[in-house]
Amino acid sequence: MMSQSKAVLTDEELKARYAWSLDRKIEESCNRIVDWYSRFGGRVSVSFSGGLDSTVLLDLVRNKCGYPDVPAVFSNTGLEFPENVRFVRGCPNVHEIRPKRSFRHVIETFGYPVVSKRVSQYVGEVQRAKGETATKRLRLTGMTSRGTKSRLGEIPDVWKPLIDCGFRVSDKCCDVLKKEPLARAMKIFGPPFVGTRAEESMQRELSYKFHGCNAYHMKSPRSTPIAFWTGHDIKEYIRRESLPYSPLYDMGYDRSGCMWCLLGAHHSDDNRFGLLAKTHPRIYAFCRDRLGLFDVLDVVQTLWDDRYRRRRKAATPTVPIVSPIDPAPAGFAVSGTD
Ligand code: SF4
Repeated sequence: MMSQSKAVLTDEELKARYAWSLDRKIEESCNRIVDWYSRFGGRVSVSFSGGLDSTVLLDLVRNKCGYPDVPAVFSNTGLEFPENVRFVRGCPNVHEIRPKRSFRHVIETFGYPVVSKRVSQYVGEVQRAKGETATKRLRLTGMTSRGTKSRLGEIPDVWKPLIDCGFRVSDKCCDVLKKEPLARAMKIFGPPFVGTRAEESMQRELSYKFHGCNAYHMKSPRSTPIAFWTGHDIKEYIRRESLPYSPLYDMGYDRSGCMWCLLGAHHSDDNRFGLLAKTHPRIYAFCRDRLGLFDVLDVVQTLWDDRYRRRRKAATPTVPIVSPIDPAPAGFAVSGTD
């Protein structure tokens, strides 16, 4: 885990960057792209998923910065929307790479990715622990081997029942389906530009604050030149430049990633599977009947809903409380009543 105290960018500086105009962001991103390209003598690539962010990134690299020959690498996990795959294959100079294993292999061998990568990792570690290990104690109680408390190292209480839920949980899915193929591609095509943005997750924000855009010294060096862009900037850029984009975004989807990822799918406002049932009913049926995804999701959603029911119950007093500062004195008619 990165330490926030070592960050090269403060919260205020990040906020200031978010507030830059789109023109300034384009200029700054191009500076980072030129630096990265020069450092590696032009042997670089763009990690291209077909999503809006990487569509903008590819345009910045090839058209705004004038590097039309930089190859794009599309990691086809096998869980991609067919519309997105068609869109990506229609773009020039895109190299498609595949994982060595399938999603089914991942869930059968390691377990399901649920809730978030962090929760999946921690729950999986406890499920696999043999005996009372230091890691197991950390994940269950937050106590480190130095005797200090680490809130971030502990599984949140709401998710602890997942340990004995009857199915295996793991964070290996992205490693097998995305990271390993991209690492292979990096060796062939050179260090990548990646279209991740700091506002997408706490992990990405910490990484950006710690490394800045160009992470030259990471084990797998990568550049995230649009890390300080907002989702609004991305849409504005696409409109302004009239960029073609994946048709998924006109079908009601706000993301182009894996069709049936369970990460984050437990939130009540997340309708990815409702939408999938409408737009791709056969794939929806495959998820239900062949992958067992909805049995898993039911368990996760029940834990999540229970937590909110408990919170609501705690917040709702069973006996009406009469405000001590506004009592209606005996014989005093409250306005509007008789
Ligand atoms: S995004 Fe989800 S489904 Fe796709 S590789 Fe990562 S964990 Fe697996």
